[in-house]
Amino acid sequence: MKYDMVIYNGTVITLNSEFDIIENGIIIIKDRKFERFETGTRPQDLPEAKKTIDAKGSIILPGLVNTHTHLPMTLFRGLADDLPLHDWLENHIFPAEAKHINPENVQASTRLACAEMIMSGTTTCCDGYFFEDEVASAVSDSGLRAILAQGVIDFPAPGVPNPVDNIDHAVAYTQKWLGASKLIRPSIFCHSPYTCSAETLQKAKKAAASKDLLFQIHVAETKQEWDGVNSEHGISPIQYLDRIGILDRNTLLVHCIWVDDHDVETVAERECAVSHNPESNMKLASGIAPVEKFLEAGIPVGLGTDGCASNNTLDIFQAMDMTAKLHKVCSMDPTAMDAKTVLQMATIGGARAMGLEKEIGTLEIGKQADLIIVDNCRPHLTPMYNPASHLVYAANGNDVKTSIIGGRVVMEDSKLVFLNLEDILEQIAAIGESIRKQRG
Ligand SMILES: [Zn+2]
Repeated sequence: MKYDMVIYNGTVITLNSEFDIIENGIIIIKDRKFERFETGTRPQDLPEAKKTIDAKGSIILPGLVNTHTHLPMTLFRGLADDLPLHDWLENHIFPAEAKHINPENVQASTRLACAEMIMSGTTTCCDGYFFEDEVASAVSDSGLRAILAQGVIDFPAPGVPNPVDNIDHAVAYTQKWLGASKLIRPSIFCHSPYTCSAETLQKAKKAAASKDLLFQIHVAETKQEWDGVNSEHGISPIQYLDRIGILDRNTLLVHCIWVDDHDVETVAERECAVSHNPESNMKLASGIAPVEKFLEAGIPVGLGTDGCASNNTLDIFQAMDMTAKLHKVCSMDPTAMDAKTVLQMATIGGARAMGLEKEIGTLEIGKQADLIIVDNCRPHLTPMYNPASHLVYAANGNDVKTSIIGGRVVMEDSKLVFLNLEDILEQIAAIGESIRKQRG
């Protein structure tokens, strides 16, 4: 058989630089990659392939990219809501992590996160957490593509009781996973400028840079963080990271809310990327990142959900809808952040932010065959005049019926291929019940 897979009959949104849309598109996949794109409707004209998928009545687009999350935090979904970030972190999340984050729970909650992501159209994610070796092994089983970072923080953390070991621990993790899987790349994630010393940040950045790995950090998330860094160093969090040599093309800055024009210039000059997490930022009332300024400055911006304790889902469709609407109301301009721009951020923008734009993010010949098929035959998706508008304003994660990553089907007709959803839900419900009992 000449080809591995042929998908036909759908409306194909390529997300290429011309934003080409192919009606009645035929997608031909070979050796995990896109081999050719054609048009046609007659099944007898299709090239022969090991697998053929009829996508009638569907939109086909690149798999969505979630540029920031903490996968095992699915375990804490809804555990503590409606609180300010620092109270939420210090009095609820850090204590819950100290008690309940162990290798078994991390594996289980990561499998849950993978199921949720695949079922809502995400094919690539960027994670930062503890026990990342366990995260990587669970993600690897799911078929997802990911950049997965060991978390670094200057406090005793799950799996790293003595913070003196945090960098060595992260380095050992990256060494184990570097080149170990086609779909997974290791990375290092420093929690923030207020939980990591300059020395820790510099050591972690150096360790990541020595292997050309992505370095990630939450930065400029709250006013409190900005005030703290400014009172200690006399400059903004972004300028502080620049001063100590953290900013370059391999640094992904998460949040970037409390930034001024000078900070935006610095981020652009240093060729850093930004992960925008509108739902987490709104829920914790952290503020609104100046995303339009980032885009104008040519900074790669991707969308993220953040962890499930501050969102509370991993659905990038929701993040797209929120992004478009948040920036319209913030600027009092309904033309701000149009559907096309937002869809780009959720696909090729995210790929760029993670340094994966040559491999994924668009449906183009030679790229990895990562795509999702969205079922349009639903009341809320009928009629369709503009597919980009549909995806951003009308669709949700439940409308995704098939998902393909690296030419491999990971979900077909809403059924996961590599994960047993029933077992996952049962296991998580049991862990959740024991957490609930311990909290009284
Ligand atoms: Zn986060």
